[in-house]
Amino acid sequence: MKEHLNVYNNLLGLIGNTPLVRLNTITKTLPGSYFAKVESFNPGQSSKDRIALHIVEDAERKGILSPGDTIVETTSGNTGFSLAMVSIIKGYKCILAVSSKSSKDKIDALRTMGAQVYVCPAHVKADDPRSYYEVAKRLHKENEGSVYINQYFNALNAEAHYATTGPEIWNQTEGKITHLVACSGTGGTISGTAQYLKEQNPEIRILGIDAFGSILKKYHETHEVDMNEVYPYRIEGLGKNLVPTATDFDAIDYFEKVSDEDSAHTARELAKTEGIFAGYTSGAAIQGVKQLAKQGEFDKDSHVVVIFPDHGSRYMSKVYSDDWMNAQGFLDEQQPTATKKIEYIK
Ligand code: PMP
Repeated sequence: MKEHLNVYNNLLGLIGNTPLVRLNTITKTLPGSYFAKVESFNPGQSSKDRIALHIVEDAERKGILSPGDTIVETTSGNTGFSLAMVSIIKGYKCILAVSSKSSKDKIDALRTMGAQVYVCPAHVKADDPRSYYEVAKRLHKENEGSVYINQYFNALNAEAHYATTGPEIWNQTEGKITHLVACSGTGGTISGTAQYLKEQNPEIRILGIDAFGSILKKYHETHEVDMNEVYPYRIEGLGKNLVPTATDFDAIDYFEKVSDEDSAHTARELAKTEGIFAGYTSGAAIQGVKQLAKQGEFDKDSHVVVIFPDHGSRYMSKVYSDDWMNAQGFLDEQQPTATKKIEYIK
């Protein structure tokens, strides 16, 4: 059926063209105007829908993938969800190697979406046979004719954002954007979007958000892989213990590091001040904006676009659970928490 009016043949037609929403409160004391690119409006509720569709359709065009074939990937959850969704609609089998750091909600959701999920230990080296990279490679070899999406090392990852996220932001801001702020994991989002935006205006500042415990910032500044930078952290989807070739480090002007605790509180603040229920890395991105503002990055004419990669519902047992926050030592015992308030009302 031809797609017209309000009817879509399936969810794939709804990928991309996500809204840009002005932030009215959380950035009120900072100079300039701030806008969120709210990627949870994608049908799979994250920016990863864009790369899932782009990479799968590229493989179809090249004749590598046809219905009934298998798709294999490593994923902290969001890419897996998007691939599982695309696989169901297009008729592929989906096998995913997932980090044990991923929330239980995310893993349950992947299984609900029909994917075969292998949970791999998070805190092992990338070349350890138990790591999710190595497990995915093995599953790819074991499943003859399968396609390995390989988002950390696949140039098509950034290309998806060059083709969609970049032009959308340029048009939505009518070319007024002065700064792009995005968390970097594979680096696909920031790199592809930056490449497009810098072609339109090379003056646009591209600011990457990295985690304490990740090598990305130091690698960007020194071109050295310093494994002393690596230690466990809790934010999922941000930072890395290796150098992803999907990241175009030259397109990024500066990396700012954020902590688990600050990002968690800022994610909660975002929900309470703007009513935007976004994921942990959206909190990390706004935390980065606050820190960058303190360093004098922005002025009254700044038009800052911040990518919000996914939806808060994926973090109910983590950053939006008072029990989890308490277990991390992130909540001041004196402060009333949602749980304590419920007890009081009873
Ligand atoms: N936030 C979340 C929640 C993610 O899952 C990811 C992907 N790893 C990112 C941010 C970073 O996006 P990218 O991989 O395109 O750098």
